[in-house]
Amino acid sequence: MSDKEKSTYRRTRAVQAGIGSDKAFRAIIPPLHLSSTYKMHGLDNAPQYQYSRTRNPTRDILAEALSELEGGYSACVTSSGMAAITLFLHLLEPDDLLIAPYDCYGRAYRLMCALSEKGHFKLEFMDQYSPESAENIAVQKPRMVFIESPSNPLMRIADIAAISESVKVQNPDSIIVCDNTFLSPILQNPIALGADLVCHSTTKFLNGHSDVVGGAVIAKTRELWESLDFWANSLGLIGAPFDSYMTLRGLRTLEVRITRAQENAGIIANFLDNHAAVETVFYPGLPGHKGYEIAQKQQAGAGAMLSFRLKGSRQVTANFIDALNIFALAQSLGGTESLINHPASMTHVSMGAEAREKAGVSENLLRLSVGIEHIEDLRSDLEMALNKALEK
Ligand code: PLP
Repeated sequence: MSDKEKSTYRRTRAVQAGIGSDKAFRAIIPPLHLSSTYKMHGLDNAPQYQYSRTRNPTRDILAEALSELEGGYSACVTSSGMAAITLFLHLLEPDDLLIAPYDCYGRAYRLMCALSEKGHFKLEFMDQYSPESAENIAVQKPRMVFIESPSNPLMRIADIAAISESVKVQNPDSIIVCDNTFLSPILQNPIALGADLVCHSTTKFLNGHSDVVGGAVIAKTRELWESLDFWANSLGLIGAPFDSYMTLRGLRTLEVRITRAQENAGIIANFLDNHAAVETVFYPGLPGHKGYEIAQKQQAGAGAMLSFRLKGSRQVTANFIDALNIFALAQSLGGTESLINHPASMTHVSMGAEAREKAGVSENLLRLSVGIEHIEDLRSDLEMALNKALEK
């Protein structure tokens, strides 16, 4: 099988995850197993499933589908994206150095700071986006590098292959983790680029319907997965069966949803880029974007997320948001519906003002999660609100 055939086959397997696995009634869609415990055969004959914190059939089907999509050995399904981040941070020892991007998701930033202050590991936030980044990171000999590409919310692109390669040359035991939440495995496969772990907030594109909070870490090797599995079970970070069932349902339409949402996002990015009220658009599909070349190399598409800076004061930004009818002001992303977010006061508020300024999260920055609605409705909503904001 060629690489392309393998990748399309993996997607087909994800669409069909668990289908036909019901031995009792031959249901097409695998049943939802809510039971917390399972009847033993006897003292010396333990069944495959015993207790649902440790292992659950519905969660296992999701884990298998996710590792299939990301090309990993196996996955741990967690109760949120933050639980996924908590999980892989437990692989670190107090003397280990973790390098993370200075502009990562605000709550990930805060968690890393808090755990490092408690002495769980050493921490450094670095620029991961310049041509020298890979070398600059590697010379620090980190035990773990956390990459978020595209970054949230400025859509900066880190060269995953270059960072992984340089860091491994300096320290072959290092662990490269990539948060693939913004693109999904349909558009980017960090393991194929050299990452050891991929994490997701499945709350976003993977579930895709804004009705589940969940997460996952996919491991490249059995050894890493076993360590993660130990911590997921010991800390009880695991995802609930119902959430796994819902996420599996969402996963079946992932490719179709992301294709449509990405198409809409591309049109919106161009529209905003040419609008007089807009200062800058951050979208890796625009040739003027700083990470355009790397995105072309490592991504199968630019995705459905973008951000932009409006010209004018915070009041202009507030007027624009108030005038929107279709884009809803909300925290999350990756659902079928289009959302707008004001990172400085919402998703990135927990970073603190100084870190926000360094990361470029200004008061006039807005982030869009573009949904699958009709493009004409989305474009006219933005146009109407931009014109109103300019009038006021
Ligand atoms: N990673 C990224 C890139 C995110 O945007 C988020 C949440 O917005 C998370 C992780 C955390 O995920 P959750 O909200 O599911 O805990």
